Amino acid sequence: MNDEIRVPAGLPLDSDGFLRRECPNCEHEFKWFSHQEGDLDAEVVDQYFCPLCGEAAGTDSWWTPAQLEYMNGVGGPAIDQYVQDSVEKMFKGVKGLKFKPDRSFSLGIETPDALTEPDDMMIAEPPCHPNEPIKVPEENAAKVHCLICGTAFAV
Ligand SMILES: [Zn+2]
Ligand SMILES: [Zn+2]
Repeated sequence: MNDEIRVPAGLPLDSDGFLRRECPNCEHEFKWFSHQEGDLDAEVVDQYFCPLCGEAAGTDSWWTPAQLEYMNGVGGPAIDQYVQDSVEKMFKGVKGLKFKPDRSFSLGIETPDALTEPDDMMIAEPPCHPNEPIKVPEENAAKVHCLICGTAFAV
């Protein structure tokens, strides 16, 4: 089983290759290192531990609200096209009825602006899993949990 999380197109990493994440439990933000596809250093897990509160959650539970909004938004134009094509097909089968496609038709879903990722937070390398570094806000450095096994450590 391959539970590797792929970063959807358009989601930015910071200059060190970290992806912003939000814990579904404590709702605080941190970052994890986004491994390249096929990177042998990447741990394959079915859950991650929050570096801040230490609670575990499934691998797909860590989107920030901005990322979710962005991913919903980029699907918008594709949905418009799909609806329009379906309507066109429907009318094609009806005798005596001519459907004039309205190219300006839109459900009004706007494509959002591209996200940007600032180089904030400090890097933390868990002694137990140094291959899975994270970034946490400075005030949390005294106690950080390993993303993979949840073991607490100080930066
Ligand atoms: Zn948390
Ligand atoms: Zn660990």
